[in-house]
Amino acid sequence: MHDLIIIGAGPAGLTAALYAGRSRLDTLMIEKMVVGGRILMSETIENYPGFPGGILTQELISRMETQVKELEVKIISDEITELDCQKKTIKGLNSVYASKAIIIASGAKPRKLNVPGEEKYTGRGVSYCATCDAPFFKDKKIVIVGGGNAVAEEAIYLSRFASSVSVIHRRQDLRADKILQEKLQENKKINFILSSIVTEIKGSQKVEAVTIKDLLSGKENDFSCDGVFIYIGYEPETTFLKGKLEMNESGLLLTDENMVTSAEGIFACGDCRKKGFYQVINACGDGAVAADSAYKFIANMR
Ligand code: NAP
Repeated sequence: MHDLIIIGAGPAGLTAALYAGRSRLDTLMIEKMVVGGRILMSETIENYPGFPGGILTQELISRMETQVKELEVKIISDEITELDCQKKTIKGLNSVYASKAIIIASGAKPRKLNVPGEEKYTGRGVSYCATCDAPFFKDKKIVIVGGGNAVAEEAIYLSRFASSVSVIHRRQDLRADKILQEKLQENKKINFILSSIVTEIKGSQKVEAVTIKDLLSGKENDFSCDGVFIYIGYEPETTFLKGKLEMNESGLLLTDENMVTSAEGIFACGDCRKKGFYQVINACGDGAVAADSAYKFIANMR
């Protein structure tokens, strides 16, 4: 029986662990993939305060991990499949865990385009992670789909490797921060295919083309390319919590401002919860608040 279990070791979970460790709670953190989570799909973070010019994501996460381990928080690998809100027990693929309080920091996974060819060519030209796969596309032609901050940052990163990067976006205007849009416009390797969607990914052994539909004319054309990077947002990793905790139709957990969920002693923070703005900085803020709420909950039990 631990004081606190934190599910997920991204920025929100790591910050919750930092605050819990400093409160001397016996804390276990469980992560199914790698410490850092999906933020590691971005090479650098430019808007984390205190790092002019940005910081490598891996570097920031390593620092957070070291800070947490110094406080004797235990980090283990397991995938959680079930949660009993009453008993505060958690079932994973490897073991069953129990604690007085639980913080869900399970994050989010990349949203899929759901077009023919996407699944077939994943790992054979289709990617959701520029940091992982960019070196495979040296001097190749790449398309990248989406219009948010992720597309802007990753298009710039991919342009260091690729011969050209075509941003395909379903609207006429990107929603990325203006400072990023300026950098995109200045980059000679980056071009735009706007008011357009990808309707199919084609190839033989690997990706060879995408079919692009122009939403203004309705016409479809094949566009030859070697890689397709998809950055169209994220979906919360909350399937294992369905029917256990209140969530909206998108699966985002509903909390109050203290990160309290619909079940007593269970808190949620970061990208798995419903809020208005999804950034590393406020994922960390959520984590700190969740740990404080968990600490107060446990203290009241004594
Ligand atoms: P996002 O801001 O939600 O943007 C997703 C983009 O994909 C939008 O432009 C959207 O189009 C488009 N899209 C969604 N579904 C689509 C579909 N089925 N087909 C075609 N296009 C589709 O997502 P994101 O850029 O991946 O970023 C996710 C979150 O992380 C955001 O809150 C972002 O600010 C944050 N982020 C933060 C940092 C940072 O802190 N440094 C870096 C990167 C991202 P519409 O515009 O038409 O909706």
